[in-house]
Amino acid sequence: MVNYVKMRSIVVGMTLLAGIMFALPIVSESVDADDAPMRPAVVAPGGGAQPPADAIVLFDGTGLSGWRTMAGGEAGWIVQDGAMIVKPGSGGIVSELTFGGAQVHVEFAAPATPVGEGQARGNSGVYLQARYEVQVLDSYENDTYPDGQCGAVYSQYPPLVNACRLPGEWQAYDIIFHPPVFDEDGKKTTPGTMTVLHNGVLIQDHVELLGRTTASAQDEGPSDGPLYLQDHGSPVRYRNIWVRPLD
Ligand code: MG
Repeated sequence: MVNYVKMRSIVVGMTLLAGIMFALPIVSESVDADDAPMRPAVVAPGGGAQPPADAIVLFDGTGLSGWRTMAGGEAGWIVQDGAMIVKPGSGGIVSELTFGGAQVHVEFAAPATPVGEGQARGNSGVYLQARYEVQVLDSYENDTYPDGQCGAVYSQYPPLVNACRLPGEWQAYDIIFHPPVFDEDGKKTTPGTMTVLHNGVLIQDHVELLGRTTASAQDEGPSDGPLYLQDHGSPVRYRNIWVRPLD
């Protein structure tokens, strides 16, 4: 006996399959050359210690070329085992690269043996444009004022959560920074913003910067600025630092 219902469903299935096979190439060929300006660039994303292919590497573990003191002198930090280490008393260092808006990746580690309490433990800082500090502090079971703990936009916004790893362990900041906008008279018309992930956890969600942060090295203004890493008297380590300028 012929099963007409079964045969019919096979025919319908084959027709559908043929339709899909026909439709697929048509969809992929509908790409228009006029779309080229809006087509996203292909970027090998990297991962682990490998930066994205289009990132500008500021520190790859091999030396301090590309870094100097704020006054333009030779950067005095120590390079050891693929990391650069704050040399207390030598001062903060700045990248020779300056940028406006940017995606910034920085890895850091507080000293493995905690020394001091509160702000004295593993203090450093990552300053966008040498103006806006994302606090670096060993805030693992180390209490301090919230807008001064690790991941705070210093004295402006506490982190949403404390995502600190143990002292001595490598941690990461991924920062999306948009600078303020100034009019022709130098008046700020739109505040800058910052989004920060700490070890992959969102800790600053597009906060509006209230101005440059306390103890920053550069006044607010329309000029680009460098990445500034703070010497706050603690031998904090840094590695794998890269920037993707956004404008
Ligand atoms: Mg600091």
